[in-house]
Amino acid sequence: MKITRSPWIHQLNSERPTVSLTQDISTEIAIIGAGIAGISTAFFILKNTNKKVVILEKNMLGHGATGHNAGQVVTYFERPFAELVKDFGLKPACEGQKDIDMAWDLIELMYREAGLNIPFSRFSGHAGFSNKEQVIHELEDLYWKREGGLTVDPVYIADSCDWSATLPEKYKGLYLPEKHSVILERLTTANTSYIAVHSAQKGCVNSALFCQEVLAYLLVTYRDRFVLYENTPIHKVVLRHSNALIDAIKHTVQAERVILCTNGFESLTILNETGLDIDTKFHHNVEGKVGYMSGYLETFNKPPAAISYYTDVDSTIKDPYFYLTRRIHEHEGKKDYNLICVGGPDVSLEDRTEYIKDYDFPEEAQKQIDEFVKSTYETDPNKKIDYQFTWHGLMGYTPKGVRLIGMEPKNPVLLYNLGCNGVGILPSIHGGERLSRIIRGDVVPQSIFDPR
Ligand SMILES: Cc1cc2nc3c(=O)[nH]c(=O)nc-3n(C[C@H](O)[C@H](O)[C@H](O)COP(=O)(O)OP(=O)(O)OC[C@H]3O[C@@H](n4cnc5c(N)ncnc54)[C@H](O)[C@@H]3O)c2cc1C
Repeated sequence: MKITRSPWIHQLNSERPTVSLTQDISTEIAIIGAGIAGISTAFFILKNTNKKVVILEKNMLGHGATGHNAGQVVTYFERPFAELVKDFGLKPACEGQKDIDMAWDLIELMYREAGLNIPFSRFSGHAGFSNKEQVIHELEDLYWKREGGLTVDPVYIADSCDWSATLPEKYKGLYLPEKHSVILERLTTANTSYIAVHSAQKGCVNSALFCQEVLAYLLVTYRDRFVLYENTPIHKVVLRHSNALIDAIKHTVQAERVILCTNGFESLTILNETGLDIDTKFHHNVEGKVGYMSGYLETFNKPPAAISYYTDVDSTIKDPYFYLTRRIHEHEGKKDYNLICVGGPDVSLEDRTEYIKDYDFPEEAQKQIDEFVKSTYETDPNKKIDYQFTWHGLMGYTPKGVRLIGMEPKNPVLLYNLGCNGVGILPSIHGGERLSRIIRGDVVPQSIFDPR
């Protein structure tokens, strides 16, 4: 079936004037990629330093993963926290979690300073579980967070689940019994296969619209030292000792530092004139996944919500993990809609360059989403749902499952804020702020996000 535009792109101003690169230029900082990572990185570098910044974007602002996500503002890693502890150690994993938690303050700061008035909601979001194994997974993550001194809220398990009495001693204090009906109410479902819930601070925002509005602010506030060039694909970056030459086909950009905010999927070659080749390693390190999503409109009668559902693996639904966002949506001039977005199905790409953004939406993915919606969210399983939006987006997964933020060890002229890793809005913003401190010359403590 044909894909339509994502609801996020749908809300962008299609008449916004754009500028492409039409001459050779030089700058202090060149950022490649104008998604939430590129815009946040520009925001914080412009705010925290006096540097001249250009962003070079091969298509249009916010049209990558930033315009094709679920719009949930969340602080969890897609990789289990217990695995991060194993890979990085308890203290560094907890510091990494704190960094992402602090990004709530950064997104608020961007929103405030840029004087935005687009919808951005914060509320208590939920994750629902269907069996003991899923609950144990969650408890294991919470166990390590508590061990590392982080504040954790308990998982609520239906009091009808007698297996909770057999949970390992080490999880004591991390879970509490609750009436099944209360759990279902929190998860906005009548599907009794969900037997536990964990709640945490979540939010929702149209991250593409957020980029568009922050861009407008940056263009006015820093008119002397900031430009965004769109429709300007970068093919090659040549790294030297103290600068980089960037090949934009017809023109070149000379920059003191170059920052890749490309999500991880860039058709560009990196030549390191000062030492070992970076290109091969870089390209083979990021694995690709395409995530599929659908959205429909309903009467505006419920508050915003962001819920993850771990379905019962024995049910007819094949993919065990779905995520649902409900938010106010302006459609065709009317503001009185709730937009329900649902994602879950995804496929891995063997060759990371093979993603085609206009590729059709697979019938199978739509079927899975529809089955999930009818079994979990909608009360009438026979209701015919009119999915007005179907879209997919590309996610780059780094080997460690966390974003890469920092200087390339083989040549510090190159820096990264990339690696979607499933959850990227707050990590991109944290990355932008961290890079601004590095560029300013601050000594920043080591982190799990450092390129190694
Ligand atoms: C289906 C799906 C659901 C998701 N849901 C959520 C969610 O609910 N919450 C959440 O936090 N995250 C979510 N994410 C992840 C989140 O959207 C991403 O992590 C985030 O948008 C990444 O932003 P970015 O700026 O790094 O990448 P992008 O938005 O992809 O931007 C990268 C930009 O770089 C440009 N570029 C690439 N190569 C070049 C080149 N050679 N020259 C010039 N420009 C180039 C691209 O055109 C693109 O505009 C989801 C992602 C997907 C796909």
